[in-house]
Amino acid sequence: MEKNETKNKIKEETECSDPNCPIHGQISVRGKSFTGKIIKIFPKRAVIEFQRIVKYPKYERFAKATTKIHAHLSDCIKHQINIGDLVKATETRRISKIKHAVIIGKIR
Ligand SMILES: [Zn+2]
Repeated sequence: MEKNETKNKIKEETECSDPNCPIHGQISVRGKSFTGKIIKIFPKRAVIEFQRIVKYPKYERFAKATTKIHAHLSDCIKHQINIGDLVKATETRRISKIKHAVIIGKIR
């Protein structure tokens, strides 16, 4: 309920005609969510990088691995995002060959 109210508030304040926008578009966000740093920006896409921990059972050790994901960048979020920002992205249906996530907001 409260979540919908804030979503509607953002919807009224900003406008965009992107069908894949998480706020204005038809796309549904579901699945995993990622928090990572923006390392590259393209016209409709941004590359997010984050670290995760992988377990190697054979050696009983943990190691860090870096993952990059390509996320959809909608028109209304685009202007508030720069390289180096920490953003939140969520998994969606496949948008294109390399995109299956969408950026939903900036953290800092
Ligand atoms: Zn939008």
